[in-house]
Amino acid sequence: MDFLLYNSLTKKKEVFTPISPKEVKLYTCGMTVYDYAHIGHGRKYVMDDILKRTLIYNGYKVKHVQNVTDVGHLVSDADTGQDKLEKGAQKQNKTVWEVAEFFTNNFYESMDALNILRPDVICRATDHIKEQIELIEKLFKNGYAYDTYEAVYFDTSKFEGYGSLFGQQISEKRIGVRERVKTDKNKRNPSDFALWFKRVNHFKDHVMHWDSPWGDGFPGWHIECSSMSMKYLGEQIDIHTGGEDHLSIHHPNEIAQSEGATGKIPFSKFWVHHAFLIVNGTKMSKSLGNYFTLQDVIDKEYDPMALRYLYLNTHYKKPMNFTWESLDASAKGLMRLKQQVEILKNGKGRTILSEDKENKIEEFRTKFMGAINDDLNTSKALATLFEVLKSNIPSEDKYDSVKSFDEVLGLNL
Ligand code: AMP
Ligand code: ZN
Repeated sequence: MDFLLYNSLTKKKEVFTPISPKEVKLYTCGMTVYDYAHIGHGRKYVMDDILKRTLIYNGYKVKHVQNVTDVGHLVSDADTGQDKLEKGAQKQNKTVWEVAEFFTNNFYESMDALNILRPDVICRATDHIKEQIELIEKLFKNGYAYDTYEAVYFDTSKFEGYGSLFGQQISEKRIGVRERVKTDKNKRNPSDFALWFKRVNHFKDHVMHWDSPWGDGFPGWHIECSSMSMKYLGEQIDIHTGGEDHLSIHHPNEIAQSEGATGKIPFSKFWVHHAFLIVNGTKMSKSLGNYFTLQDVIDKEYDPMALRYLYLNTHYKKPMNFTWESLDASAKGLMRLKQQVEILKNGKGRTILSEDKENKIEEFRTKFMGAINDDLNTSKALATLFEVLKSNIPSEDKYDSVKSFDEVLGLNL
């Protein structure tokens, strides 16, 4: 059966085929580790996990790489403002290194509690400074980079089609944004973005810094994803994911840098973008402080799986509004579901042998796969699981089907 996946690059659902039949190369943009992981992150990474499990269910071997952003991500994506890690260190009264360590652990512990399969490679930006410098050197060689007194930039005017990547009118949007902020006067185009910040002016006291051919400084945020993706997965990959906020800046920049450096198009065949978890109509975010952590959920005595179950009821491309009432309803629903599975496990429950049992089991499996293979339609996949439970196939076959479906759903049924 074909696996259809919505590709933000072409703006349509496409049949997924990997570059190499042996292995799917998957890169999922990771966390900026300056504050707690919240349940908005939980949604994004659970849906990445559904994507990965669906690939595995379809028989693919997956190599999954994820970065940890521990330097270079500024409070404004317009390359201005404070470094998020330094901001976190001030808030927590810790060093930047301690902050990064603490929140990286907090992030992966939260992801474990949500039953998210760990990536094969977890890579920190600060462990890959050499690779980032090498990539910037390639960009200089290929004529895409230039430097000023303050920073090294990617010249977006040299990269054809930059302004319309993902169909966004990026250049127009950014000129508007940048008129209101203080920027480097020697930058050639408003949409040019920093590859390397020099430890001068605004950043003269930047805590994390390294030597480079352009002087002491630190990398810009976007370059880490291009260089680590290439290091662990090669110059071209199958799927790259991120939240919908990455459609306008981070991902166009990753494409420009990667394709500019290697000349190989496309950097990633598929781009998947997740809609946000929102609270009262606003994105749940660390910077706005309007978030709940997984620990908040646990403190209110909810099973983290109730949250996972709640996420699965909304398609990953649709915004989802979080309320405690919806989590409550989800917890009750999951409890009932688990009770039914427990009954089946003990060999009890209604067993009405139907003559065409094998056909029915196959029909359900096909229906379930049809749902997840249709751009990860998790709510339809769950509906199929309930159909199985209500059906007249024998208990042990119901149990086997539920366990099989749970390889994708990951609800620990
Ligand atoms: P950050 O640590 O802010 O870089 O976020 C890590 C990932 O989580 C990015 O791909 C974001 O788009 C995503 N993300 C952040 N906040 C939310 C949210 N409220 N809902 C869904 N995804 C989010
Ligand atoms: Zn990234």
